[in-house]
Amino acid sequence: MRENKMWIGGEWVGADSGKTFAVFNPSTEEEIGQVPLGGVSDVDKAVEAARKAFPIWSRKPQAERSKLVSQIAEEMRKNSKELARLDTLEHGTPIDVANMLTMWSAEMIEYAAEAARTLMGDVISAFPNTMSYYRREPVGVCGLIAPWNVPLMMMAAKLGPALAAGNACVVKPPSINSLIGLKFAEIISKVDLPPGVVNLITGPGGSVGNALSSHPHVDMIAFTGSTETGKAIIEASSRSVKRLMLELGGKNPAIVLEDADLDHAATILAEKQCLNSGMTCGSPGRIYVHENVHNEFLENFVAAMEKITVGDPNDPETAIGPVVSAEHRDKIEHYIKSGVEEGATLVLGGNRPTTAPMDKGFYVMPTVFTDVTQNMTIAREEIFGPVACVMKFSSENEVLDLANDNIYGLCASVWTKDIGKGIKYGNELRVGSFWVNQHNHITTALPWGGIKESGIGKEGGVEGLKEFTTLKLMCFEMPQ
Ligand code: NAD
Repeated sequence: MRENKMWIGGEWVGADSGKTFAVFNPSTEEEIGQVPLGGVSDVDKAVEAARKAFPIWSRKPQAERSKLVSQIAEEMRKNSKELARLDTLEHGTPIDVANMLTMWSAEMIEYAAEAARTLMGDVISAFPNTMSYYRREPVGVCGLIAPWNVPLMMMAAKLGPALAAGNACVVKPPSINSLIGLKFAEIISKVDLPPGVVNLITGPGGSVGNALSSHPHVDMIAFTGSTETGKAIIEASSRSVKRLMLELGGKNPAIVLEDADLDHAATILAEKQCLNSGMTCGSPGRIYVHENVHNEFLENFVAAMEKITVGDPNDPETAIGPVVSAEHRDKIEHYIKSGVEEGATLVLGGNRPTTAPMDKGFYVMPTVFTDVTQNMTIAREEIFGPVACVMKFSSENEVLDLANDNIYGLCASVWTKDIGKGIKYGNELRVGSFWVNQHNHITTALPWGGIKESGIGKEGGVEGLKEFTTLKLMCFEMPQ
C-alpha cells in the first residue's frame, strides 16, 4: 500500500511541501500511518490534470465510460476485505458493518454507471419551424469533498455519478480517514481511466478543501459534511459561481403517535440512533412522543438502547465501536454535560466506559435523555453521537410546529398505524426525506438530501446522477 503518496495526473506523488501528517486508530489511540500533507499547490496540479483529462473523458461514448466506471466497482469488490479492514482500523467501524458499507459503496458506483446509460435530453416545441432540445452534458471538473462519518461511501456516492456522467474529479477524503482514501485511489488506479480523470489529495479541509472550493477551474463542488463547512464552501465558491451539491447536518424529528406500535418504534429508533456510533446525519435527533404513551415508549426505548453492544470493532458481536476522534468524543461529552446542566433527565449512559478494551479509545456509551424541552442545546444542535433526546407532546399542531422549528430540514419520521395520518404529517414536515414506521431507511436507488440548512441538491439515485450534469439548450431554425 502506497501510504504516503497521493494520486495526481495518473502518478503517485508526495505533497509539494514534503510534509506528512499522522492518522490514528480510534479504538486504541495508536498512530497507524503517515500521509501526505497536501496543500494549495498540490490542488492546483490536480485541478489542471483534471482539466486536461475532461475533454478526453467527456467525449468518450457513454457505453465505454459506464464500462470503465463499473470496473471500479469490480475492483472494490475484489479488495473489499482490505477496504473493510481499513475502515475498522482507521474509523472504528465494526467489521460486519464495514464489510456491508464496502459492498454498498461498490454498488453505488455500479448503479451510477448503469443509470448513466439512460440519461436523455428533452425535445421542446417552442416556435413554429424550429426544433429545440436539451442536451445533457457533464459539468466539468468536480471537487468531491467527503466527511469522516462514512468515508468510503461518501467518496463513492459522489465519484460514481460524477465519473459516469463524464466529469473529471479531484477527491478529498476526510483528513482523519486518509488511509481508506488512498486505498480507494489505489483501486481506481487499476482501472484504465485516462490520466487525470480521477485525482485524490490528502490534507486538511481548511487548506485542501478551501483551495478546491475557491479554485477558478473547478466547476462544481459536491460536499458532505457539517453545515458550518458547507457555508464556508458557499462563500469560497461564490467568487467563481460553481455548481454546488451540499449534504449537510440534521436534527431529525421522529414523532411517535398514540396509536404507534411502541415496541417496534423503540427498537428501530434505538438502532438508528446508535448506527455508526450515532455519527449518522439521518439519525433521530429529536424523538417526540405523545404524552399518553411517553412512559411506555421510554421504557421500551431504554431497554433497546441497553441491548446495543459497544466494544472492539474487530469483534463480529460488536454493534458500535468508538467515535472517530478524541475531539469528537469531547464534543459529544460537552453536549451530555449541557443536557444535565439545562435540566434534562439522564436515564441511561452519559459516562465513559472503564473496562477493557474500552478503557482506551474514544468510546461513548448509548445515552438517553428525557424531559428534554425545545430550547435546550441538546434539542436544537446536532450531537452526532449515540445520544437520544426524548420529548413529550400533546397535540398534532403542537408537534408539527415543534418538529419544523429547527434550522435543519434533512429527514423525519412518524410512527402510527394510521397510514393516512402518516401521509398528512409527511406533507406538513419541512424535510428532504420522510418515513412512516421507519427512519433513515435508504438504499442506492433513493435520492437523499435535505432542505433549509441541511443542504442543496440530492445524492444517490437517478436524481443524484443528474446533479453532475448540466442542460444545454440546442435550437435549430429550419431553412425556409
Ligand atoms: P466537516 O464539515 O468537518 O468535514 C467534511 C469535509 O470537509 C472534510 O473532508 C473536511 O476536511 C472538509 N473541510 C473542512 N473545512 C473545509 C473548508 N473550509 N472548505 C472545504 N472543505 C473543508 O464534517 P465532518 O465532521 O467530517 O462530518 C460530520 C458532518 O457531516 C455532520 O454535520 C453530518 O450531519 C454531516 N453529514 C451529512 C450527511 C448528509 O447526507 N446530509 C451525511 C453524512 C454526514
